[in-house]
This record gives sequence, C-alpha cells and structure tokens, in this order.
Amino acid sequence: MAVTTEKSAGNGTLTADSIEFIPVKPEQMKAKPDENRLGFGKIFTDYMFVMDYENGAWRNPRIQPYGPFMMDPASSVLHYSQSVFEGLKAYRAADGSIRLFRARDNFERMNRSCERLCIPRLDVDFALAAMKRLLRLEAEWVPSAPDTTMYIRPTIIAVDPFLGVHAAERYTFYIILSPSGAYFPDGMAPVRIYVEDEFVRAVRGGMGFAKTGGNYGASILAGAIAQEKGFTQVLWLEGVHRRYIEEVGSMNIFFKVHGELWTPRLNGSILPGITRSSVIELATAMGVKVFEKDIDVYELFDLGARGELEEAFGSGTAAVISPVGMLRLQSRDLIINNFQTGPLSQRLYDTLTGVQYGRLTDPFGWTETL
Ligand SMILES: *Cc1c(COP(=O)(O)O)cnc(C)c1O
Repeated sequence: MAVTTEKSAGNGTLTADSIEFIPVKPEQMKAKPDENRLGFGKIFTDYMFVMDYENGAWRNPRIQPYGPFMMDPASSVLHYSQSVFEGLKAYRAADGSIRLFRARDNFERMNRSCERLCIPRLDVDFALAAMKRLLRLEAEWVPSAPDTTMYIRPTIIAVDPFLGVHAAERYTFYIILSPSGAYFPDGMAPVRIYVEDEFVRAVRGGMGFAKTGGNYGASILAGAIAQEKGFTQVLWLEGVHRRYIEEVGSMNIFFKVHGELWTPRLNGSILPGITRSSVIELATAMGVKVFEKDIDVYELFDLGARGELEEAFGSGTAAVISPVGMLRLQSRDLIINNFQTGPLSQRLYDTLTGVQYGRLTDPFGWTETL
C-alpha cells in the first residue's frame, strides 16, 4: 500500500524529507549512560520518531523529544491490545561505523503482524528511512563497549478513544531507542528450562506468529512460576496436543541431533524469528543439515536419555544464541552436553555476532552501514 500524507509534496508518498524535527531543549538533553552498566531496555535516548494514522493515511511524521504520550483512557490499545511491535539492533563496529542487520525483514514482519491485527500497514522503505534518520541523529548514543548494542523498538498502538471491539481508525507508530548492555555480561552460559505442559502461549489460528502485546501478556504467568522454581524460562508446547515443541521463552529453539539441526516448523503459532532464519541459512552454509519439522518433546527426551541429543539453544535478537543446559519435563530432567555450550552453538554465535559487528565478511547481504 502506498502511504500518503497531506504534508508531503508531489507524488503524495511520505519521504524522509517530510519528517518534521522538533528539537530537545539543550538543558533537557540527557547525560550519556555508563556503557558498562546499561542493562536492557531501561535507558532511552533524547529523541523518538512518531507518526499518526488518521483519515485513512499515515501522516505527520516527526522526530520529537522522547517523552510520555497523552492518551485517552479509553484508547483501544489499553483495553484490547490492538498493537504490534518489533525488536532489532544497531551495532557499533570497531571502525566506529554503525551497522544494521536484516532491518528490512523486521519491518516486513511488522506488516504481517499488522495484517493479523487489522492495523494499517507501513511503507517499509519509509519506515526504514525514518529509523535511520533517528539513528543518525542519536549516533552518539550507540554504545561501543564489547557486545553492547542499540536496541530499536518500533511499535504501533491503536489510539481511538472508543470502547467497542473492532479495528481502530487512529493509530500511533513510534520508534524508540535503548542503548543496551551485553546479554551475557559474564560470557555465554547455558540455562535451565522448564517444559510448560499446563499453560500455552498461543494456538494455531491465534496470533502466535505475530509480534503483538497480547502474546506476551499470555506468557508472563508461566515464566514467573518457572523462575520461582529456579528456571530461566519455559519451553512452550503446541496448545492442542501438548507434545510438540514451539519456542523457548521469546526465542525460537534448535536441537542438534546426530549432527543435524532440528527446529520446529512454522505452524502459525510460532514467531518466525529473523535469527531463526539466519541460523538456518548459516548452518546450511556450514554444511549442517537443517530440518524444520514437528518435534515431540517426549521423543526428544528419549533421544536425550540415549545420549543422542548433542546440543540445544534458543535464538533471538536479544541473546543471538542462548544455549540450553537442562530441560525439566514433569519429573524428568535432561542434562544437555554436560551443561556446557556446544561447539555448533558457539560457532553460530561467533559467526552471527561477527557478521553483525562487521568483524567477519557478510556473504549473505544481511548487513548495511548506516
Ligand atoms: C521476537 C521473538 C522471537 C525472535 O525473533 P528474532 O527476529 O530472531 O528476534 C522469537 N519468539 C518470540 C515469541 C518473539 O517475540
């Protein structure tokens, strides 16, 4: 869909030139944080990108001071979760340049999430241009300490002040930036995972494939119970049979069995991770056979008991690769690779992060310099 606006000149399509700039008052500029104590998602930069959807079109694109929105308490997003979001990162290379990894894929996925939630689609080229403009403005905020990143959170929320359950007519799209610390400050370490056989995250026909707030609201209770029991996260099972593995927390999951890599096939209730697709391409290029298929957790435990499960890891933008050292299914515990990071997990992590930070050449065309 071509995005039109009254503000833009000529052909009616939004262009980066049509983005209004509203400066932060000099005395309100924030001090840059200590790069060794960033954490995740707690610190935000001076500016954000915002645009509105009204009268059938996205309009009023602007870069304005980061800060709270004024919202009507009846806004539909607050009641019915009509919202979608994305998560991607910018990386500071050793030469000081700022790099992006498969950013277009994030905005294309955002549009697929939009379709599921009856939210108007974005013009991907314009959204990318707006994000880059914001990043260039905030370049000094992109950290350079090892393994730090600029986390980027594009979001769309429905803002109609109306309590009826149907698609809103007004939306806000915004992009905020959060300088973030290393995911594994003490080095990559395997985690303990609880196989969740009571609660489910999503079911086929629901919204599991979309990055939308409701899925995360549904996941919090199981995650909290698992953490109370001493596990880092849950392994989600498919909601009908409660046998087939779906995801781990908010990451996709891979298993190395007999030298092959297995991952659940995208069945509609699994989020199609960009890291997942990168792992599949990269492992294939390394000569590893990758299979996307239904994986029965009981059969996996039997394989594990026979010593045939060699490695397991989650994949996602935040951690890139997160090795799984142990799974608990009801009363059965399965230790994987002696609770050590496996060689394939390590190699995939090193290669992916190497490409992202520009330490390795990128034969896939995944990266670009800002
Ligand atoms: C974002 C997300 C992932 C990982 O996707 P990436 O594009 O690799 O970051 C996996 N599962 C869920 C539920 C997610 O929200």
